[in-house]
Amino acid sequence: MTEKNTDTNKANAGTLYIVATPIGNLGDITQRALDTLKLADKICAEDTRNTRKLLTHFGIQGELQALHDHNERHKVNAIKNWLDTGENIALVSDAGTPLISDPGYHLVSELGDQGYKIVPIPGVSAIITALSIAGLPTDRFTFEGFLPAKNVGRNKALQANLKEPRTQVYYESSHRIAVTVEAMLDIFGATRKVVLARELTKMFEQIYRGDLAGLQRWISEDDTPQKVHQKGEFVLMVSGHIEETESDDVNSSTEALLKILVDELPVKQAASLAAKITGRKKNELYKQAMLLKGK
Ligand code: SAM
Repeated sequence: MTEKNTDTNKANAGTLYIVATPIGNLGDITQRALDTLKLADKICAEDTRNTRKLLTHFGIQGELQALHDHNERHKVNAIKNWLDTGENIALVSDAGTPLISDPGYHLVSELGDQGYKIVPIPGVSAIITALSIAGLPTDRFTFEGFLPAKNVGRNKALQANLKEPRTQVYYESSHRIAVTVEAMLDIFGATRKVVLARELTKMFEQIYRGDLAGLQRWISEDDTPQKVHQKGEFVLMVSGHIEETESDDVNSSTEALLKILVDELPVKQAASLAAKITGRKKNELYKQAMLLKGK
């Protein structure tokens, strides 16, 4: 690579490229990612064996260097030295965009402060991929990454998000998806809207849309032979909290009642019974019941 830094105080140093790679489907690699990986003098990777497979698939040789959570701080100096000799370095993670719940923060932060040129080679990230099909508000959202592994920490983090009005996005693994959904159900309540994206871009990609009570059932009552609903990688998106006014309280209790009734009865009968119980108009309740039924 010959590109040189011209707009910082490290004009003669090489460039650090932050390269996104696919999260499943290898067809999602970008042309720029391939060109950059081909031409980089060194490729820093979270797991070199994993990245070697990716490179081999695309016929790229590449000199690999390990950079992971445990050696990142130590490795920064070595990378600076390589850049200072004019080498161009690429950073990749196991999947998706580096630094997004992946190593690279210390490296980019320190090199950025010291004026090294850092160039993004954008591509896939699970969070944006998931949000693009969620159908939850995406004008504003919060990325929560992984919740703490222990119950106390997890519950505390969820409690802190209880009144968060923006869509919340969580990463989760197969080991903890069931306990996380359970904890969300306890803290956010049964009717909070949720979308779970499982194994995005892979062969068994699956999307669950509904509320937390439904998701908890989908996971716990999974009757697939290998309990696949808990397997793989997940992005869990929870709709933001909506501040309830007094009349909203009435609306939500009516909705909760309707929900129970439409699960058991035909829509018309459910609406008629709900009208008798709540004193509300039957035709309004009928429309609401149709929506709940997804009609
Ligand atoms: N850097 C990656 C990115 O840009 O999305 C994320 C790395 S993080 C260590 C791995 C987590 O991302 C998984 O536990 C899961 O929550 C999410 N993830 C990665 N690939 C996924 C996929 N194909 N489907 C669903 N979630 C995925």
